[in-house]
This record gives sequence, C-alpha cells and structure tokens, in this order.
Amino acid sequence: MIRTTSETFGENAKAALQDTQLRGALRHATTLFGKRRREAADSLSNWEDLRDQARAIKDEVLLHLDRYLEAFVRQAEDRGAQVHWARDAAEANAIICRLTIERGAHNVVKSKSMTTEEIHLNAALERAGMHVVETDLGEYIIQLAGEMPSHIIAPAIHKTRRQIAELFTTELGMLPTDDVAQMTSTARSTLRERFATADVGISGVNFGIAETGTIVIVENEGNIRLTTSLPRTHIAVMGIEKLLPRFADLDVFLKLLPRSGTGQALSTYQSFITGTKRKVSDEGPDELHIILLDNGRSRMLAHPVTRQSLACIRCGACLNACPVYQQVGGHAYGSVYPGPIGAVITPQLIGIQKTAQLPYASSLCGACREVCPVKIDIPQLLLHLRGEISSKQTSGRRKERLAFKLWAAIMMRPRLYEKTAMAARLFQRWFKPPVKAWTNGRDLRPIEAESFRERWRRTR
Ligand code: SF4
Repeated sequence: MIRTTSETFGENAKAALQDTQLRGALRHATTLFGKRRREAADSLSNWEDLRDQARAIKDEVLLHLDRYLEAFVRQAEDRGAQVHWARDAAEANAIICRLTIERGAHNVVKSKSMTTEEIHLNAALERAGMHVVETDLGEYIIQLAGEMPSHIIAPAIHKTRRQIAELFTTELGMLPTDDVAQMTSTARSTLRERFATADVGISGVNFGIAETGTIVIVENEGNIRLTTSLPRTHIAVMGIEKLLPRFADLDVFLKLLPRSGTGQALSTYQSFITGTKRKVSDEGPDELHIILLDNGRSRMLAHPVTRQSLACIRCGACLNACPVYQQVGGHAYGSVYPGPIGAVITPQLIGIQKTAQLPYASSLCGACREVCPVKIDIPQLLLHLRGEISSKQTSGRRKERLAFKLWAAIMMRPRLYEKTAMAARLFQRWFKPPVKAWTNGRDLRPIEAESFRERWRRTR
C-alpha cells in the first residue's frame, strides 16, 4: 500500500482520479449518504432551529472552555473516573501505554475513534507490546488492509464488496464468498473472541457533559458497548472541545449527529457512562480513565476565526457534499481527517508548512457550509488558512501578489479598467497572458467582443 501525505495532495488526487473502482465506490456511497441526510433533515420541521441551537451551545462552550473543563473533571472524578491531561499526541500515547503496561495488559480492543487515529495510538500500543484489535467493522477492515480511514464515519468507504471479501479470505481464512451476511458473521465471530480475552478497552467520546461528568458515545454495531464494558479497564480518549454544558443539550446533538452522518433518526446504541460502577457486584469495568487531549486545540481556540473548527461533531456530512472529496476520496488528503473539515483542521493540528496544499483542495462552492449541522463556515476557514500560507510564502507568490496588486489598482479606477479591457480585447489574438499555472487546471475564457458596460450604454 502506498502511504500518502498531505504534502503531496496534488499527486495523490491525480492518482485517485485514475482509479475507476475507487471513484465508483465513492460516487455510490456519497450519493447515498447525501440522499439519506436530506430526507432525515426534511423529516424535522425545526432543522434550521436545531442547527442554530447547536452552534450557540458550541460557541458558549468554546468561549468558556476552561470553566466547563474544570466542571467536567470535578464531576467525573467525584464519580470514580480518573482524568489525565495530554498536551499532545506523544503525551496521550505515553499515558495510555503506561496504563496498559501497569495493568499487565496484552490484549487491547478499540472502538472507532478519530481522536485515537489522530494520535496514531495503535502504532504506539504495538510498540509497547500490545495486541490491538479494532472492533468497528469498517475500522477492522482497514486495520486488516493496513490502511488509514478514508472517511470520518465510514472508514472503508473506498472499498468494494469484492475487495473486502478477498481481504477476509486472505486474512481470516473465510471461504471465498461476497455474501455480506457471511462476511459480517466471519468478522463478528473473530471479534467476539477478542472481546472475551481483552484486558483493556479503548474508546473515543462523542460528547462530554460538564454538568454530570458523563461521557456519551454513539454507534450502530454494539461493539462500543462491549469495548467499554467487558474489559476490566476502560480508557476513553476525548478532545477537549467535545464538551456540552448540560445534559439537556444532548437533545439537540443526538438529533443532528445521526441525521447528518448516516441519515438515521437515532443511532442504534447510545452509551452514557458516568464514572465507574458503584458496587463490586455491578457489571462493567473497575476503572475508567479519561484522557483529555489538547494537541493543537488550544491554538485553534485562541483565534476568533479558527475557533469555530472546534465546533465540529465529526458527522462527515461535509465530506459527502464536497465535489473534491467525491472525486478523490479520503486517502488523497494524506491525513486521518479528510474532506473539507480535514482541509481545515489538519493544517491547524500539524502545521501549515506540511499541509499547504490542503486549504486549496476546495472550489469554495460552500456545499460543506450548507450541510454542516453546526454551521461551521468552512470556506471562511479555508480562506483564512490560505491567507496565512500566502503571508508566510515568499518564493513563487511574489509574482502572484504583484499581479493581484496590479489587478486591484485597475479595478479601483473605472476608466482605467475600461481602457485596459479594451486593449486586452484587441490584443488577445496575438498575446497570450503568462498564466500557465492557472490554465493547467481550468479554462481562461476569451474576452467578450462587447463588455457589459458597452452593451448597457448601447441598449439603455
Ligand atoms: S465540519 Fe460540520 S459537516 Fe463537517 S464533519 Fe464537522 S460537523 Fe460534520
């Protein structure tokens, strides 16, 4: 498998465009998700109100994040959870590895979590001698294939049924078949054994409730229930932005998230975990550790424009709506967070030097903003990041800046603009403007024989 990076988005995208199987799988999945999302949103008369409410709640949390984090930690610890703070991926991985080693663990089961993908937890645990198994079916498929997720909620969206069948035959010894029920049953029986022998279960967190210290995790397969309840130790990895102030706020988000993600009215399972079990005889793990991860989030929080990136609830709707993602898929972005939201948060997480191509991986059509359940203005964020990149780059951008300065000077003087347009129209037959980089990817239309102003004067 070729590992892509964000630095080579252009090349990755070109390669993806040649892959007809990938494009077929993407077209099918994104069209289906988009249709289901529209139907689910239309089924609620107050959809727009819910979006506004969700954004207002997130804005409130982000504005007072310090206060809400303190309240969350106090409530969670009062109920028996142990909270750990991690400044970055290395710290989070070190804490989690230490916890597993101290408990003599060998087998770890994991449920799907973008935050653990972000910190590359599996590789760190394997280096510490752990046997790690992903238990979400999509994540399990890509773990067997040795790949990265290519979609926030459907990690194996790029794979066809036949490719998965071949993978299961090779890796799990399944008899050759592409019957979905047979394939699912093969994965289930393999995973059940892993649950039974796991020492530690690791999950992500969809929402943390400051008022009660509760963590909320939504899913459709039941694997999160098993991950968080069978092993004796549960470790939950949570970005610091995942907080909601009150339990009642969940009402809004539990309506928006499944509808925006999979088009469901409600996720099949919703786990509410508040601390550890109260009595020894109760079901569930003995210990709950919550890792609060920063990893660049404080930086995003500090700027009034980038702050809104932290309102994301990882529903994946912007990926399905994005005309760029629909064509090239998630791996082209070279990051665990693909699509429009990936193009926004990856540069903020790992730095714009290595990811400078990503904010340009957009037509700025606004489809992402239209579908985002928390009304994140992704085009505004992309433009902000482009501005940062442009201000840091000197070579190659000098000519571009000069051209735009000249353009602005002409546009601000109507008479000069008219004269320049007339001259350009006259000479365009003999003179080709030096804009090869621009015309590599798009057309430069010839100037019309008559301008709008001229036609206006003629016909008025
Ligand atoms: S940016 Fe909005 S649409 Fe995209 S994943 Fe986040 S919440 Fe969903």
